[in-house]
Formats: sequence, structure tokens, C-alpha cells
Amino acid sequence: MSAPPASAAARAASLREQLERASHEYYVLDRPSLSDRDYDRLFRELQALEAEHPALRTADSPTRRIGAEPRTAFRKHTHLVPMISLGNAFTEGELSAWEERLARLVSDDAQRSGYVCELKIDGAAVSLTYREGVLETGATRGNGAVGEDVTANLRTLHDIPLRLRGTGHPPLVEVRGEVYMPFSGFERMNEERVRAGEPVFANPRNSAAGALRQLDATVTAQRPLRFFGYTAALPGGAPPPVATQWELLDLLESWGFPVAPRRTRCAAIDEVHAWARRVEHEVRAELDFAIDGGVVKVNSLALQDELGVIGGREPRWAIARKFAPDIAETRLVRIGVNVGRTGSLNPYAELEPVEIGGTTVRMATLHNFDLIRDRDLRVGDLVQVKRAGDVIPQVIGPIPDKRDPADPPARYAPPDRCPVCDTPVARDEAEVAIYCPNVGCPGRRLEALVHFASRDAMDVRGLSYARIEQLVNAGLVGDAADLYALRGRAAELVALERFAEKSVDALLDAIDASKAQPLSRLLFGLGIRHVGAGASELLARHFGTLGALRTAALRDDGAEEIVAVRGIGQTIADAVVAYFRDPAAAALLDRLRAAGVADSEPRAAAGGSALAGRTFVITGTLPTMSRHQARELIEANGGRVTDSVSKKTSALVAGEDAGSKLEKARALGVEIIDEAELRRRVAP
Ligand code: NAD
Repeated sequence: MSAPPASAAARAASLREQLERASHEYYVLDRPSLSDRDYDRLFRELQALEAEHPALRTADSPTRRIGAEPRTAFRKHTHLVPMISLGNAFTEGELSAWEERLARLVSDDAQRSGYVCELKIDGAAVSLTYREGVLETGATRGNGAVGEDVTANLRTLHDIPLRLRGTGHPPLVEVRGEVYMPFSGFERMNEERVRAGEPVFANPRNSAAGALRQLDATVTAQRPLRFFGYTAALPGGAPPPVATQWELLDLLESWGFPVAPRRTRCAAIDEVHAWARRVEHEVRAELDFAIDGGVVKVNSLALQDELGVIGGREPRWAIARKFAPDIAETRLVRIGVNVGRTGSLNPYAELEPVEIGGTTVRMATLHNFDLIRDRDLRVGDLVQVKRAGDVIPQVIGPIPDKRDPADPPARYAPPDRCPVCDTPVARDEAEVAIYCPNVGCPGRRLEALVHFASRDAMDVRGLSYARIEQLVNAGLVGDAADLYALRGRAAELVALERFAEKSVDALLDAIDASKAQPLSRLLFGLGIRHVGAGASELLARHFGTLGALRTAALRDDGAEEIVAVRGIGQTIADAVVAYFRDPAAAALLDRLRAAGVADSEPRAAAGGSALAGRTFVITGTLPTMSRHQARELIEANGGRVTDSVSKKTSALVAGEDAGSKLEKARALGVEIIDEAELRRRVAP
């Protein structure tokens, strides 16, 4: 074998050095300066060099090691069985190549018994030792063989049972899984840190890993950490008391551990590809926690054992199908400001285009001006952007370390005038929002109309944002009541670009049809400050007609009567009273009534009582109804709708892409029905 060229040796040494430094920052300091993608790229380059020139493979190469050495501040814990890492497949091609290697090793399809696909939680791996069913030790992965004993910290996690549920557990077992921080908890924690004047954390993974390795468990207890289990190890690598990975996950659940949602079984690799695509492009955005891929495992535990581990580091029987990162760094180019329907000014970020999770992101929400001030976001900053938990990307915060200290960008000042109509802005003491007080502001009017026509309000089919914009710009519509006068102006409509005669007819029919919507929809559509769909329903049901609500609101003690409605608080009551006392609103309501818009709420009894006494949860996307409409249907028939599945839930109404609620319903044996079945049950 010829010696590797000097250039290859130098490159390998440089890669080793970079990867070492990155691993230390990532595992020990919990403060990486490289992105995972860059780390993975360097890692692969080193792997390829070592494969080409085996002489370059040093014993201490990062490609042969797992994680990092445990910190001396903690007691050490030797794992019963080493905790290993996973090989990576970044593309479908690489995943297929992995399966082809397996097929060469084990040619019998039936023996391979299919695959289990699990979410790859982007947190910190831990191992929990249970002796006679009682939690004895909790440890980090460390270098794979020896981890850090962080038992006191792990005991503070409510997800981790201190005693296993059920009976017949192995006398000694280590349950492995991932500690993570949900996005919602992460954001709340950062907001609190800002208020306390402490620096914010960069991302949920590092926060979770950092919180886990606190020397003071009371600090860990204050961090919103959660746990998902995914495997169990017995002394000497003895097999757990089940035959497959799927059953092992069930077993963990029966012992009281949360297992990540969306796991699935696949017979062939094509199904795995389809699952991974769905998870990357649809599911991921709905999750409240970070994943960096899926893990594909051979289902049969006997076969896993037979296939074994490569180089002490990666199992042959499992692989991580890694996704594009969902947090990216880019530059904040401008802070723009929209005017919402209630006049609130909403800042948003214009970004240098960046790819996150397979799509190009150019804009992100900034929530409100306080957030910009608290995180000290400045135009020109490098910022971290996340696309997860929500379809709308969000700016997590700036990376102040990357500011040029000699020439930092200027602090941002919120506008003092409405960007659309130039009216000086107003600010409620109690609220974080600033708003345009001009009811006639064209920006407000446009958004108000869009809201009025939207699906959960008056549901005017075919009246899109672009069309409303066109109608407003053409001077045909200024407020909601003008919509109902459009029939008399059909000729002017047809003259508009993209408004053919046929589509004008359809639009006018849809506008007419919306007149029959119940009062609750109308109230919601009016866009009264603080009055959402839920409050609109409560008010409509309580007062029955618009006249009754209006009369109540105009009485001297109007707010008192409204606040007495169950579920309505003082803020909403005050806002309702203020709305009805506004002469402009009164004029609008009169015109709507004159146009024939319905102003009463059908009594629940009219719908029947087929679902009386039954409680439902709705999840996923239903084929024809919005969730709001499904809720109305259930309630009109005497049923109740709640947000979370419990043993008391009568049935789960599940649509496409239902997530953890569906899993939970299955686990609890709650009946699962679809939209068609719901409709059948309420049919007269
Ligand atoms: P890994 O994160 O790629 O995969 C192995 C780990 O996945 C396991 O240890 C386990 O904790 C976790 N996991 C999550 N869900 C799982 C499930 N359902 N089943 C099984 N395991 C599951 O490998 P690693 O060795 O932990 O870390 C290497 C990775 O860490 C790199 O690929 C890189 O992304 C990141 N890293 C980044 C830097 C940096 O500087 N940014 C430095 C070092 C490592």
C-alpha cells in the first residue's frame, strides 16, 4: 500500500483538528460555533479520506469516537452496554444503499421483518438505570462507554418515571432516550430570561444539553425539559423481553415513558422514503420540538443483534435519515411593518434568502416590537431563523457575537406613525402592541375585509386576498357592507382584470350566501378587538340576537352584563362595549342589517341532541370542514369539544395528518371517527 500524499495527510490533520474543536464546543460547552450541516460535511470528508487512505486513520480520529469525555465535575457512570451513535443518510439514494448492504447480509426479506421509523429527536441522549423497577441512576451518553451521572437533574423531569409502571420488569435495565426542550417552553424561557436581564439561549438542543449538565438540580428543575424513550439495554447485551423494536416501544410506553409520536412500521424501503418525505415536509412543521431527521431501524431484535455494530460506533441495523436543518443563519435586511385589521402594527423581518428545511425563506414574523427591543434585534444583524412548530418562519434572535464591534448596526426604533396612513400611533399601557387609531386607515380596511370574508368568519368562497385588494383599489369596496352592494355594480366588476362574467356571478352568489351565516360568524367577522371565534360563539349563544347584545352593550352597566357570560373576561367585555358605542360601527351594523345579513344565532336545540353528553376532540385536516365548523356542528347537536384527549373523550374526530392526539387516542382506546362518520351521527 502506497503512503498517502502529503496533501491528504495535511487535510486529514486539519479536519481532525476542526472536528475536535467543534465537538468540544458542542458536547462540553453546549455552545457550537459550527452548524450541524457544516460539521457533518467535514466529518464525511474525513471519513472519505480515511477510507481512501487507511493509513490516515488514527486511533483518536473523531470518526472512531462517540461524543466527548465526561466532565470531571460529575461522577462517572459506566453504561451497562455502550451507547452508540448512528450512521447518516442525507439522501434517499444513501438510504437505499444502506438497505442494499443489509439485503446482501441478510437476503431473506421475511427475516428482515421490515423497518420501524421513528422521529430523530434533536436533544441530548441519556440512559436511565432502573433496579427492581426503581430509578437508580441517570447519565449522559458521554463518550459512549462512560457518561456523567446527572441523576439529581433527571429526577426533576416529570416525564421520567421514578418507578416503572406495571410488573415483571427485568431486575436491572437501562432505558435510553432523548431529553429535549419543546419550542414553546424554549421561547417562554427565553422571554423570562430577557425580562431578568439574562442572555438568551441560542437553540433548544443546546439549552437542553446545558440544562441537563447543571451542577445545581434546582436550575434544571426550572428548565422546561421533556423526555422520549426509544430503547432499553440489559446487562451483557441480553435481549429485552420482546421480539421487535416496535414491541419494545410499546413496552416502554407501558412502563410509563413517553415515546415520540409518528412512529410507523414499513415493509419496504419505498415506504420508508415516503414516511421520511412526509415527516420532513409536513409533520416537522407541526411538532413542538426539534427533530433533525428520522431513524430507521430493522424491526427484529434478533436480527439487530446478528447485524451488530461497525467500528464500535454505528449499528449496522439502524441509520439516521437526516433532514436539512430547520434553524438557519441569515442577515436581517429590513424590518417591515404591516397594519392588522384591528389597527395593530405588526413587524416582520425581511431576510437575505436562506434555505431552511427544503424551502427558501425570505420573510419571518417578529411578533411585536417589544420582542425586537428585548432581543435587541438590529437591521443588518446576522440572525437565527427557525421554521418549525409553525409554518410561518420566526426569527429566534440575533447573534451579537457576529456583529462588527467597530461598526455595530444602529438600534431599531418602532415607527411613531402608521406606515399606511401616517396617523400618529397609539399604545395601550397594558398591551405590547402599538396600533393605528384611524378606523378609516386603508391598511386596516383591507385587512378587516379579508378577515370578514375568511373561512371561519363569513366564509365568502372565492373572495381571495388579491381580489379584495383589487376591489378596494378600484374604489368598489371600502367596508364589509359594501360587499353586499356589489350586485348592483356587476358591470364595473366585469370590467376589472381577471374578473370574467362567470366568476363575477359565482362571487356574487357566494356573497349572497354569506348573509345566512349565524350571528357568531358575523361577530367574529366584525373584527372587534380581542373577540376571537370562541368569544363570538359564547356571546352569540348567550344573547341570541345582535339587537340584544347591542342593547346590553349600550346600557350604563353594559360591560357587567357581558362579563357575566361564562368564559368572557373583562378585557373582552370592555372591547365589546367600546365597539358598539362607536358611531362608525353602529352605522356599519345598520347597513349590514339593511343588506339582509342575518343577525341571530340558531338555537342549539334546532340542531338536535344526537351528541348530548358526549365529548369530542378534533385533530388533523378534515376533508371539507374547518375544525371550527366541525366544532359548531358538534355543539349544535349537544356535544362538547375539548382540546386534549383523555379517557373521558367519547371520540376523536381525526382528519389527514393527525398527530400526537391520534396516537394518544389509540393508546387510550378512545374511539376514532372521520368527518363522514361525524356527519352520519348528527344526520336527522
Ligand atoms: P447523531 O445525533 O447523528 O445520532 C445519534 C443520536 O441520535 C443518538 O445518540 C440518540 O441520542 C439520538 N436519537 C434521537 N432520536 C433517536 C431515536 N428515535 N432512536 C435512536 N437514537 C435517537 O449522532 P451523535 O453522535 O449524537 O452526534 C453527531 C451529530 O451531532 C453530528 O452529526 C452533528 O449533527 C452534531 N454535532 C454537531 C457539532 C457542531 O459543532 N455543530 C459538533 C459535534 C456534533
